[in-house]
Amino acid sequence: MATLEQINSAFPAFFPAAFFMFGACVGSFLNVCILRIPAGRSIVRPGSRCACGKPIAWFDNIPILGWILLRGRARCCGRKISPRYPLVEFLTAAVFCSMWILLPPASAGVGMLFASILIFCTFVDIDTMSLPDFATVGGALLAVAASALFPDIHGARIEGAPFFASSVASIVSSVCGLAVGSGILYWMRLGGEIAFGREAMGEGDVILVGMIGAFCGWQGALFAVFGGSLIGAAAMVPLVALRAAFSKGKKSGKKPRNSPSEDASDSAPDAIPYGPWLALGGLAYYMFFSKPVDAYFGGVAGLLFK
Ligand SMILES: [Zn+2]
Repeated sequence: MATLEQINSAFPAFFPAAFFMFGACVGSFLNVCILRIPAGRSIVRPGSRCACGKPIAWFDNIPILGWILLRGRARCCGRKISPRYPLVEFLTAAVFCSMWILLPPASAGVGMLFASILIFCTFVDIDTMSLPDFATVGGALLAVAASALFPDIHGARIEGAPFFASSVASIVSSVCGLAVGSGILYWMRLGGEIAFGREAMGEGDVILVGMIGAFCGWQGALFAVFGGSLIGAAAMVPLVALRAAFSKGKKSGKKPRNSPSEDASDSAPDAIPYGPWLALGGLAYYMFFSKPVDAYFGGVAGLLFK
């Protein structure tokens, strides 16, 4: 690790910049996955193509920069290119770079994997209102495997004990997070169904929180559900207000959020995916809030079991 530290001290910006660029490339790949996997198309072949069918040259396909240099229009036919592509690339780049700056190397590396899965799930959920099992179930399995290899991500390293012991402790943390996360959401979903008489959230959300728990431990799963809901609620207030202001409808303001839309004038879909808020909560915990949240739960447990 001496060389790594030498590079870090000589060029402090080297690794953050390298991980920003790496993240932008991963984001570019995520764009391809988000677009093609739900449509059942190969992510390998054919190469990137414009909507008009012409292949995109490598220099127009450079993450973030390509879109900026083209000013959001395809070179071949002038079609508008959605700003979501550079946005996903920039988001992934910024998250990777921040992971490296904020966390120790092993946690940062696992965090990059975690963030990639969450970003994929978020945009697929926005597009299709469903979460593919291979990403959520597969992500949970990857999380358990990563926990076995890197016990530090759960703070499960036991000093002086053989690696095997830390590894087992870490797997227990991960599986516990998986069970608590999916368990809470399962009961919330059941409660919602009884209260509202219809499906309030999907089964995909249940598995998603299980996966978040497998990466973050049970505290992270709890934070994702409650923190994510808070962030979601805070973001929904201005969105719902904006929609109410623009629709100038008969029943202003007090419309229940998830009511099926009766008037055709309301073009925006009424169902709002829950997955993106859960993902945001999970990522926020992993990157920023694991220490204070764990300390909080530790304090609560201390009061209860003194
Ligand atoms: Zn074109």
